[in-house]
Amino acid sequence: MTYDLHIDTGRWRAHLASTAARYPGLVPVIKGNGYGFGREVLAAEAARLGADLIAVGTYGEVPAVLETFAGEVLVLTPWRPFYDLAGLDLERVIHTVGRVDDVAALAAAHPGARVVLEGETSMSRHGLDRHELAAAVGHLDGLSLEGFSIHLPLVGDRAAEAERWAAALAASRVETTRLFVSHLDAGQLRALQAARPGLEVRPRIGTALWLGDTDALEVRATVLDVHTVAKGEAVGYRQRPVPGDGHLLIVSGGTAHGVGLEAPSADASPTGRAKILARGGLQAAGRVRSPFRIDGRQRWFVEPPHMQVSMLFIPAGTPVPAVGQTVTAAVRFTTATFDALRWD
Ligand SMILES: *Cc1c(COP(=O)(O)O)cnc(C)c1O
Repeated sequence: MTYDLHIDTGRWRAHLASTAARYPGLVPVIKGNGYGFGREVLAAEAARLGADLIAVGTYGEVPAVLETFAGEVLVLTPWRPFYDLAGLDLERVIHTVGRVDDVAALAAAHPGARVVLEGETSMSRHGLDRHELAAAVGHLDGLSLEGFSIHLPLVGDRAAEAERWAAALAASRVETTRLFVSHLDAGQLRALQAARPGLEVRPRIGTALWLGDTDALEVRATVLDVHTVAKGEAVGYRQRPVPGDGHLLIVSGGTAHGVGLEAPSADASPTGRAKILARGGLQAAGRVRSPFRIDGRQRWFVEPPHMQVSMLFIPAGTPVPAVGQTVTAAVRFTTATFDALRWD
């Protein structure tokens, strides 16, 4: 009972199963912090779902999932000649390759390696330009081609872009009929598959799979201490005055758990920007809203979170949770680390 992720196991697994049913050919993505669950847990869940293939972010993530998952493992970060893969069992590993030079270099370094060629979409992150496909094919000798991959942005006409790549693939000399895609919804995938019956479309999904039913998940922090404070009283590492009469709550969950980490906002709308400015104003005044919810509201940090705990202020008149009770927290799962997973 510390800083835990509670999982409504039945509900969560039902969501995983229904997602797998809606996305035929699903490739579960298991990377980074394992979306808050940890990669080993998710690898076991992917096996339960009957997945034949999972995708990880980096080569460093490969060894542990090879132990928990008996199927194949696709590495999403494209292979580079400066990666040292010595000691890695590559038999069940599928590499992504996104540069013409790397196709030749991989063939030389790891003859027989299994590869997926990646195309450079409007994401512009990795991948071969459409005009480089022929050159890449020219270096494929000695490699086993397992498919073609595209990574799509979260906005824009992704269906049209996927169709353009499917057409480019069909017209190219890249000899594969398997296309790995990201960020198409179930309807868009069905349409692509219907338009290209000869193509085996494999959707890679992480967030919508593992975190798609947030009502199945609850983060609970434990109240570790409660202190009565008067307005102006200096508290914390920084000895800042508290903003009013009330209580200080010391709850489990600090920077080591990812509390206080916030991804830079991508909100470019006028109201979104105004909100960010307003928030900045409050931050400038030394007040930051915490993710911890008490009596229905997210409460203010008294000062930046500490390594293992956070200090919160609740004004007089608000019901005070007792030491040992839990409060919920609205956190970003992809930067969260929990003390324990609780399978309810
Ligand atoms: C992370 C990632 C995915 C999965 O993204 P989600 O938004 O978590 O579903 C798919 N493909 C690639 C290449 C990725 O890096």
